[in-house]
Amino acid sequence: MEDCIFCKIVRGEIPCSKVYEDELVLSFLDINPFNHGHTLVITKKHYETLFDVPDEDLKACAVALRDIGRAVYEASGADGLNILQNNYRAAGQVVWHAHYHILPRYKRDGFITSWPTNPYGEGQMQEMLAKIRDKL
Ligand code: 5GP
Ligand code: ZN
Repeated sequence: MEDCIFCKIVRGEIPCSKVYEDELVLSFLDINPFNHGHTLVITKKHYETLFDVPDEDLKACAVALRDIGRAVYEASGADGLNILQNNYRAAGQVVWHAHYHILPRYKRDGFITSWPTNPYGEGQMQEMLAKIRDKL
């Protein structure tokens, strides 16, 4: 896509610190890292969100996340690792080209991993379950 920043990186019009590349996937260091080693895995083709990505591209992302995730974890000496994927503005998506974040994590690095809970009321869990299953 013409104006997409990640498409420009794929085309080589904007430089990146490339970690890995194959036919379907590109991986590079995030320019504004949460922790050092913060790495992005993107589809080479332009898809706006996870829901737009075809099976083949998505499978390539999954394999890349496992292998690059392990490399980032070992190279950074992190205590843990998160894989994060944002869809739509409310969830923090800023770049409209499907991508995953690989986040090295350290004890007490200030990133919230235990979010506040929103308990179900009477019958609400079953109701939500039925709605989700209906959509599959
Ligand atoms: P989102 O919030 O959309 O899930 O994440 C977009 C990420 O892309 C951000 O973490 C941001 O730092 C990163 N990013 C945006 N523009 C560039 C760029 O030009 N180069 C690199 N390496 N990362 C970028
Ligand atoms: Zn794009």
